[in-house]
Amino acid sequence: MGDPLQLNHIDMLSLEDGMTAKEMIEKGNGLTYNDFIILPGFIDFAADNVDLSSRLTKRITLKAPLVSSPMDTVTESDMAIAMALCGGIGIIHHNCLPEYQANEVLKVKKYKHGFIRDPVVLSPNNTIADVVKVKKEHGFSGVPVTENGKLGGRLLGIVTSRDIDFLDSKDKQDTKLDTVMTKFEDLITAKAGVTLAEANSILEKSKKGKLPIVSPQGNLLSLMARTDLKKSKSYPIASKDDNKQLIVGAAIGTRDEDKHRLQLLAQAGVDVVVLDSSQGNSIYQIEMIKYIKKTYPNLQIIGGNVVTIKQAKNLIDAGVDALRVGMGSGSICITQEVMAVGRPQATAVYKVAEYARHFDVPIIADGGIQSIGYIIKALSLGASTVMMGSLLAGTSEAPGEYFFSDGVRLKKYRGMGSLEAMDRKDAMGSAMNRYFHSEVDKLKVAQGVSGSIVDKGSALRFVPYLQCGLRHGCQDIGAKSLFLLRSMMYTGELRFEMRSHSAQLEGNVHGLFSYEKRLF
Ligand code: GDP
Ligand code: 5GP
Repeated sequence: MGDPLQLNHIDMLSLEDGMTAKEMIEKGNGLTYNDFIILPGFIDFAADNVDLSSRLTKRITLKAPLVSSPMDTVTESDMAIAMALCGGIGIIHHNCLPEYQANEVLKVKKYKHGFIRDPVVLSPNNTIADVVKVKKEHGFSGVPVTENGKLGGRLLGIVTSRDIDFLDSKDKQDTKLDTVMTKFEDLITAKAGVTLAEANSILEKSKKGKLPIVSPQGNLLSLMARTDLKKSKSYPIASKDDNKQLIVGAAIGTRDEDKHRLQLLAQAGVDVVVLDSSQGNSIYQIEMIKYIKKTYPNLQIIGGNVVTIKQAKNLIDAGVDALRVGMGSGSICITQEVMAVGRPQATAVYKVAEYARHFDVPIIADGGIQSIGYIIKALSLGASTVMMGSLLAGTSEAPGEYFFSDGVRLKKYRGMGSLEAMDRKDAMGSAMNRYFHSEVDKLKVAQGVSGSIVDKGSALRFVPYLQCGLRHGCQDIGAKSLFLLRSMMYTGELRFEMRSHSAQLEGNVHGLFSYEKRLF
């Protein structure tokens, strides 16, 4: 006979453990990601089947919820290309001249084309030396030759590296292209109006390196490259626009001169702009949002940063398409210490996300992401994507050179509010960042530090590692998609528990004399 007391009570036992996100956030007085843990759920699917799609803004959905931060040691075109190839997006920083930033955007948009809409073109009177110059400046040597040397001119032929392979010695440099190019009659071309799929198939069958697209009159309209065909096959979840170009974001400030910067960015084809303010709830940002909505109605706008519901309300009312959340949680950040304002990040993400979802505005959890676990925690509190600085700064795609210190390979990583970043006065231009406005401020007050970060190899390997870890985290939780993860949180099915200090110690490596922490 069992314990009668136990039998009587067995039906009344609750299977519910832990607490809901709402209960936890209300109980804790400002929680960080470290303060809590997520309780495991039930697994009835393979990790490979977890869908990581998530919205960046109202109109842009990414296949991976990952965004690289607009910092000058994190995102220029190389990082933005890598992020987009891996299904995320990069936001190009604005601590540089507007022309430089717009050109970085252009590099991303041109990186991988369906159709190259503005190919470099030469005329029959150009020489081999000109092709060598193109190769040096742009990295390719397949150049269409038109009558007037311009796009839209009558196509006469193409010069490729194979045409000039044996002719690049000094005495041949003046040879006119007319005599070396592959002539029009020997080219395979496609007619105007050809679809991307048809053009792809012609290129595949023709075994040629380039496919010029021509008008019925034989004028050059655009070009396709075989290499792009190959690349598009190896990055199946790349973030692309309708024209099959990679998507990219760019940060701007909220001052009058930023309107000129924005114009250049829009011309370069930027898909989304981030209004880069550490405290986004301002009349300046609200006016800028309204200006952009009126002037560039197709451009998506990410407002911020915000950490409270009131801040979020003003920017949502002004018309933002997403909100960037975080103040003082970044790894290089000293805002909370210097300014005494900010909010612990877990609470900030939950509070803003809970409000913004009623207006269909996605949330980007920005700052403080130290590992895959932190990404899962941010997403499980309502964020749709995460923005990362330190996690990506050590990759080879981040701007800057590696250097060695005590035998460790490092790269510089600095806050955009560090004195060093604010003082940036190199060939790239003036210090135009969100922490310092030289006309007004006589003295700079740093809100960030400058440091270094360990080499992480290529983002093209690191970002897929993050995705793989995210899938496994979602599997442990029992969420087959990020959409499901968020709805489990709001229905209360997702359970959380606070972590005491000793629980945090227990959750980390302990008791070893030494260990090696290799992540992937
Ligand atoms: P090539 O054979 O030396 O021309 O080089 P590839 O075809 O291997 O690579 C050219 C790469 O540069 C492709 O990814 C193109 O999409 C890209 N690209 C960007 N702009 C242009 C352009 O104006 N002309 C050419 N040929 N390629 C371009
Ligand atoms: P991390 O991923 O390194 O923890 O944080 C990156 C985020 O920190 C950025 O996306 C940005 O929001 C924020 N940030 C960048 N530079 C500074 C800075 O100098 N001061 C402060 N307060 N935040 C910064």
